[in-house]
Amino acid sequence: MHFHVVTLFKDAIESYINTSIIGRARGQKKIKVSYYDPRKFAKKKVAYIDGKPYGGGPGMVLQALPIVKAAEKALKGRRDAKVILFSPTGKQFTNEYAKALSKRYADIILIAGRYEGIDGRVKKILKAEEVSIGPYILTGGEIPAAIVIDAVSRQRKGVLGNFNSREEERTASPEVYTRPENLMYKGKSYTVPKVLLSGDHKKIEQWKKEIKKS
Ligand code: SAM
Repeated sequence: MHFHVVTLFKDAIESYINTSIIGRARGQKKIKVSYYDPRKFAKKKVAYIDGKPYGGGPGMVLQALPIVKAAEKALKGRRDAKVILFSPTGKQFTNEYAKALSKRYADIILIAGRYEGIDGRVKKILKAEEVSIGPYILTGGEIPAAIVIDAVSRQRKGVLGNFNSREEERTASPEVYTRPENLMYKGKSYTVPKVLLSGDHKKIEQWKKEIKKS
């Protein structure tokens, strides 16, 4: 799977997806991530590609053409790519959606906005889907891009050590414990729930289900 990220600030993403499971998957070429800086696609080499919003209002809007050209570079020869544009007002990103994306596409273009947002014509020209990662406003689309890369990649076989270890495919407990069995902290003893030490897998599964409900 190849993620193509259109962003002004690749470093905001790179540190997260270059570590641990996702970093390993990239090293093993199970997933690929490419970056496209819209500034490189601006008419003349400028360090900015934003402009004042028509209709007034505060802040600056990212111009359409540099972003469209950056996305077109990623799309070159990839007819069947999915284009996602991050916006707080987009379709809510979910695990189900991550699963569907991982099954359906080999290439996903992720467009991260900044400032007041992205010129509305980008969505129209690229037939992009607006996606939100939650009901709050961030200052940029880079964290949403890292979230989508993480959540979609883990749905691809070979990325997680054991594909079936995905939490959504088993009774994953919202509470997990490891050694020591008994933790003394400020004079108080905190022990691991006895059932987890019982070796009785049926009871343990039951406990996980119950604790999930509570
Ligand atoms: N006025 C803009 C709007 O309502 O879309 C807000 C822009 S926001 C300050 C800057 C960028 O961060 C957006 O273009 C988008 O790419 C990203 N962003 C902010 N909140 C987001 C969210 N909840 N989900 C996905 N992307 C978000």
